[in-house]
Amino acid sequence: MQRRIRVDRPVSMSSRDLVLTALRARGPMSRAELARHAGVAPSTVTGVVQDLMATGLVVTSPHPRDRPRPGRPGLRLTLHPRLGAVAGVEFCFDRLRVLLCDLAHDVIATADCELPYAHSSESALAAARKLVDEALAAARLPREALIGAGVSVPGPVSRHPDTVKSSAILPGWHGVTADDIAEALGVVVSVDNDSNLAALGEHVWGAGRGCDDSVTLKFNYGIGCGLFVNGALVRGVGGAGEIGHITVDERGPLCRCGKRGCLETYTAIAAIIDALRPQHGALTLHELMGLLSARDPGAVRVVGDAAELLGTHLAAVCNLLAPRRVIVTGPMAAAGELVLSPISTAIRRHIAPNAVPQVLLGELGKRNTPLGAIALALDESDWLPRRRSALTNGRVARGLALA
Ligand SMILES: [Zn+2]
Repeated sequence: MQRRIRVDRPVSMSSRDLVLTALRARGPMSRAELARHAGVAPSTVTGVVQDLMATGLVVTSPHPRDRPRPGRPGLRLTLHPRLGAVAGVEFCFDRLRVLLCDLAHDVIATADCELPYAHSSESALAAARKLVDEALAAARLPREALIGAGVSVPGPVSRHPDTVKSSAILPGWHGVTADDIAEALGVVVSVDNDSNLAALGEHVWGAGRGCDDSVTLKFNYGIGCGLFVNGALVRGVGGAGEIGHITVDERGPLCRCGKRGCLETYTAIAAIIDALRPQHGALTLHELMGLLSARDPGAVRVVGDAAELLGTHLAAVCNLLAPRRVIVTGPMAAAGELVLSPISTAIRRHIAPNAVPQVLLGELGKRNTPLGAIALALDESDWLPRRRSALTNGRVARGLALA
């Protein structure tokens, strides 16, 4: 039947796959956007979409749910949401988060748990597998529905093969490969560090959407950034965007990387809390944010100084890359203007006048990293939906209860 339909209404197979690939990687979009992202002529898209809608693989106007980005007006096309799901798994030094998205890019389940400090990779991966299974169960999806997982680790990842490098944040993970993680999770995986994935999350779902050139700062217990140049994430050979380990003073405090006086030792959350210790004792992050909300002068000054120093070094990055946007993310982004204003002022002071970027806060909060992991998995996947016969007769279709 499929052959006869294609003979009656000739549709290029490669155009079909290009359209499906664009919808998988970028989520719901208009026909015009689909033509642009798929690299297919608008007139060809019309025929391809007609065919795909007839088979139920592509649908319009998905129902609004826990959508991680604002909806856009007009008719949008998407893969049928129930064709499959993708997990985003974020490993932190003390926490594990899992998001599950359907193929309309809606978040359909979340799960998280604590991890013991200095945990082993084996125990964390076992916990992740359990959370992914719980998320699938909560979304009433069988395991076969999982087409891939994106995985975030808070440390450098070297490429080819993708391998977690030595990190003081995750000491139990050194040398773990993407294949090790895939075997433990039971699904194909894509792996990158948390700053790159925060940037990717904002690029696909949040404040970086529609912007090909951006720098996303992660203002956290570590300091990192993700770089988009000409629409592509810069990944380098062993973790690009390590702004936190730029040397500010080589006789400065010892950094977790083994060097002295890295930017991170003056600006990360631990440094801010250390600076406030004489006045306020050992603050938690929550208590620090409380002081900032109350406009405690010492806390505002210390955070402002850290943000200004970050802005000075972001200006150097901006002079090199000329991004259109600088996006501030991570827990300290919750301080809003108290961090945004000093960063923006310092960038303006130190950048070439004709290249001043827009400086803004991320839109996704702590979801940006697992969403970025999902975006990476969707982008690197070679998964394409089955044809109608497989969908309607196969085991997956029964499990997924195609509407
Ligand atoms: Zn360092």
